[in-house]
Amino acid sequence: MIRENLEIVEKNIAAACKRAGRDRSEVTLIAVSKTKPVSDIRQAMECGIRVFGENKVQEIRDKTAEITEPLDWHMIGHLQVNKVKYLPNVACMIHSVDNKKLADEIEKQASKAGIKMDVLIEVNMAHEDTKFGLSPEEVVDFVKEISPCEHINIRGLMTIAPYTEDPESNRGYFRDLRLLKDKINALNIPGVNMDTLSMGMTGDYEVAIEEGATFVRVGTGIFGERDYSKQKL
Ligand SMILES: *Cc1c(COP(=O)(O)O)cnc(C)c1O
Repeated sequence: MIRENLEIVEKNIAAACKRAGRDRSEVTLIAVSKTKPVSDIRQAMECGIRVFGENKVQEIRDKTAEITEPLDWHMIGHLQVNKVKYLPNVACMIHSVDNKKLADEIEKQASKAGIKMDVLIEVNMAHEDTKFGLSPEEVVDFVKEISPCEHINIRGLMTIAPYTEDPESNRGYFRDLRLLKDKINALNIPGVNMDTLSMGMTGDYEVAIEEGATFVRVGTGIFGERDYSKQKL
């Protein structure tokens, strides 16, 4: 089933790129494997997938301990300050930076590990109470505030759009996230040159690609429905 699902997702990605006049190589598929067993990840690897997304630090740690092949692991979920120390040299990018305390801890731990951590700023485009992320109005000041951190590479912006049956209803949020990235780049903040937009999930990744996504995060569309009762905290 995973192979068939991946074929469908790949076809959809290629078609969305074509509609938008974009090259397929501009978009990276992150296979969101949270709650899913290592055997599912191995099946996706057999289909050529090398980029995975998880939303719990413990789950990334467990899975990377078991799967030692070189893969890119993305931390896409809300991150507690006290868990940051586990991520250098485990996750290649953190998609969910939305407060100064978290950024300071990433700076500290990345410095300790002697690396520069790629991060995205999470933006709550629809101002949903239930979601993490900065409101769009706060992003420029936040980027200016953390831009001096020498061990943080601010690669771009991430959003989780509202859950919807109609992907078109999220198009405006994706477009506005792209415009926000362009606006920040135009400010020429020292050390900041964003090239990444992480947006689009199973329900809306094609629209997100049409609006400029460089990472799409697809879970259900590849691995099927999730059973959260099996997820460790
Ligand atoms: C779970 C999750 C996804 C994948 O969601 P699907 O709808 O299953 O594709 C994408 N992004 C984040 C941040 C997630 O937590």
